[in-house]
Amino acid sequence: MFCFQCQETAKNQGCTVKGMCGKPEETANLQDLLIYALKGIAIYGEKAAELGILDRKWGKFIAEALFSTITNVNWDDERIIGLIKEALKMRESVKDRFLAGYREKKGTAFSGELHDAAVWFADDPAAFKEKAKKVGILATENEDVRSLRELLVIGLKGVAAYADHAAILGFEKDDIYRFMMEALASTTRDLSVDEMVGLVMKCGETAVNTMALLDEANTTAYGHPEITEVNIGVRSNPGILISGHDLKDMEELLKQTDGTGVDVYTHGEMLPANYYPAFKRYGHFAGNYGGSWWHQNEEFESFNGPILMTTNCIIPIKKENTYLNRIFTTGMTGYPGAVHIPDRPAGGAKDFSQMIALARTCKPPTEIETGKIVGGFARNQVLALADKVVAAVKSGAIRRFIVMAGCDGRHKTRTYFTQVAQRLPKDTVILTAGCAKYRYNKLDLGDIGGIPRVLDAGQCNDCYSLAVIALKLKEAFGLNDINELPLSFDVGWYEQKAVAVLLALLFLGVKGIRLGPTLPAFVSPTVLNVLVEKFNIKPITEPEADIEAMMAGR
Ligand code: SF4
Ligand code: SF4
Repeated sequence: MFCFQCQETAKNQGCTVKGMCGKPEETANLQDLLIYALKGIAIYGEKAAELGILDRKWGKFIAEALFSTITNVNWDDERIIGLIKEALKMRESVKDRFLAGYREKKGTAFSGELHDAAVWFADDPAAFKEKAKKVGILATENEDVRSLRELLVIGLKGVAAYADHAAILGFEKDDIYRFMMEALASTTRDLSVDEMVGLVMKCGETAVNTMALLDEANTTAYGHPEITEVNIGVRSNPGILISGHDLKDMEELLKQTDGTGVDVYTHGEMLPANYYPAFKRYGHFAGNYGGSWWHQNEEFESFNGPILMTTNCIIPIKKENTYLNRIFTTGMTGYPGAVHIPDRPAGGAKDFSQMIALARTCKPPTEIETGKIVGGFARNQVLALADKVVAAVKSGAIRRFIVMAGCDGRHKTRTYFTQVAQRLPKDTVILTAGCAKYRYNKLDLGDIGGIPRVLDAGQCNDCYSLAVIALKLKEAFGLNDINELPLSFDVGWYEQKAVAVLLALLFLGVKGIRLGPTLPAFVSPTVLNVLVEKFNIKPITEPEADIEAMMAGR
């Protein structure tokens, strides 16, 4: 195996024996083969699109399958094997549509050369395992070509996750699906460095468009997030804990638990569900339990009730844990031995009755903390406060905004983000989104004239809100360039959605982003030079030095 897609990769080079995340070699190889099969679909899909033939179910499937390969999403080899089979079947149907369309348009049969990804075939898991060994990341020998191809594919995984969430709520765009196919197909061809860099930038543009689409989907379905105090203590009823990012699952779970005597709590990246008006009206929506994803072995244990994983991050259950019979997966998540709740039938809802019945037999959650945290500062809410914010900047009450959005992770080095939050001058405001916030959202950092010093926009995809806020501030101050704002980016990353967000920021022209705890292993020294030259990306260093530099606008 070779996997270097996340920040915790071995030695910041690549996992080669077993993932630092716990991913076994066989699972990693099968995921490589799934991506290879998707490239086969993309090769025909791109050609078909050039003829004006595009079927949304191709893009939707590619998005789902890419999503399943994101870190900590799916640990179930049987599911991945099923997806490979489905991909090969879909590839043949896309091929048939393309060949028929070609013949019809050109009056002759297609006779061009095709990459192996478009023609290989196997039907049994043993053959999959053999093929998988030959199609991994290291099959691209040139380090810089590999780096640019993987930067594209890894960013695309993030785009795929956000596109999938939007599609679940009924929002899809052909352009997004078309780019997915263009990007995947491009990795099967020899391209120039400029062409590959261009595709990486187009991935950033697509990430912006996809996050905008998801923002539209979420706010259309559930209203605009509002400033909200979220309870982090517990009640005396049994509960269900819901984690991940899927708001449709949240909606259906709240509806089905209403009146059952079972409370619902969020965990990890589902915390921002507490900010949506549509969910606030449920009296049994009790608040948030615990912190970011990597604390789940302890927190799922003490929660005592069923846990629903709607997306990442699900991490391996330890020997001493007892919650395997209480954890349920759904959507693209999977875990061997856990019950998987199937997709909703057309026009219907998922069936959470098994979980609810189990919850009724469970003890209430054990209290691990008490109090409240505040969030809900997505674009609409912050823009409602825009006059106040602009006045505070003009008067000097707010000297600088620091975007500390992104991910949390296990490494001790991530205490950097807590220390920066604690040591930043009191006239600074932290803008956040994603699970990075758990490094400082329970600290009392105060407010500036009623504006809290930590403004949480929501999930990692809500970084879109942060970009809209920055663009509006630029407008309010009559500036030409976002980089002239009193705004610094100090971003923590972990998995592939964060890479999509990073590419989105680069596409929007943001320069001087600090990134940590380490720079991505999939960026080769040459590609890093390009990123430094074009965008002045830099690694985080020490809190004091970085704070001093950021306050000086560097
Ligand atoms: S997802 Fe991260 S930790 Fe897991 S195998 Fe890949 S690089 Fe390693
Ligand atoms: S914030 Fe980062 S780690 Fe958390 S879910 Fe989003 S991308 Fe993953």
